[in-house]
Amino acid sequence: MQPRGKFGGLGIGSLEAINHGLLGKWLWRYRVEQGALWTRIINSIHGGNGGMSDTNTFKSQGSLWNQILNSFECLNNINLNPKSWNGDQTMAAQFLRSFALESNKQATVSERIQENIEDWERRRRPRGGREEEELGNLKSVIQQVQIHNHEDAWYIPSAPNERFSTRWFRQLIMERGASHIHTNNRWHKWAPKKINIFLWRLIRGRLPVRGILQQLGTTMPSSLCPVCDKEDESILHTFLKCDQAQFVWMRLALWWKISIPVFQLLEDVWIWIDNIPMLSNHRKIFWITVMAALKAIWDARNEKTFNNKERSKEIIFTTAQNLAYNWLSSRNPKFCIDITKWRASPID
Ligand SMILES: [Zn+2]
Repeated sequence: MQPRGKFGGLGIGSLEAINHGLLGKWLWRYRVEQGALWTRIINSIHGGNGGMSDTNTFKSQGSLWNQILNSFECLNNINLNPKSWNGDQTMAAQFLRSFALESNKQATVSERIQENIEDWERRRRPRGGREEEELGNLKSVIQQVQIHNHEDAWYIPSAPNERFSTRWFRQLIMERGASHIHTNNRWHKWAPKKINIFLWRLIRGRLPVRGILQQLGTTMPSSLCPVCDKEDESILHTFLKCDQAQFVWMRLALWWKISIPVFQLLEDVWIWIDNIPMLSNHRKIFWITVMAALKAIWDARNEKTFNNKERSKEIIFTTAQNLAYNWLSSRNPKFCIDITKWRASPID
């Protein structure tokens, strides 16, 4: 998926950034709410500074806090070093000569700002030339600084009066290109964009099944599954538990000649697919067929819900096979298998 606009258009990239923006907010809170119970718990699990000293490598995505630290990794990538004071560098790095002359290396900006610059504690007076010139620059920077009588806080460079802005964080990530962000969001290049969006909504439980609509306060004649009329309709039911779905999964297993476990959660499906012992290329094709199966299940559900037309289970499965075939042949130049062969076996 290539970003379209400056900030990635409507691609999954921007969704990644939204996600990272939200996680970044927790990092912000961690900084601001030092001493709170939750930050102390984080420290006790992940070590002092919440495990942030170890920022060279991306952490596994396992825990939520690790995901947050990965957002922190993005922050570092965009030069928001927490040690920086004015812009991208520490003050010491910006004014090397003045810092070398400084006799109290621990002095704070607020202490120094209250004194006349000529009265600062120094090892010796600056000796003309570059030292004087640098001191002049330092003076002009210091003059612009206003010290407020409240605790230090992280601020947003473009809007110092604002507190953390998820929008700002997100834009920053998008400007830097979200492609390097390690994330568990997926974009399958062999599937159409709208199918990727469909999968994204499905993974996040954002498809309008009756159970969700009811939770949102929509009144409906029935909360039962429109396909089987047996159980309340939920995403789990529609895509895994409903007879129609179970049939499609069973046919998928036969077609691929693999055994598919009984899933209790939709998330288990993605974890399982990532761990099937399979060539990486085959796994990608398998993913596409799973996406096509889910789409065919959803289309059949909608056809029944809105047009009261029932599709046979076998037709739903054949539709999935055809969908996947069309996506692969139009998007993967190396995919040149005959449709009859494809229906017999998806891989040679
Ligand atoms: Zn059902």
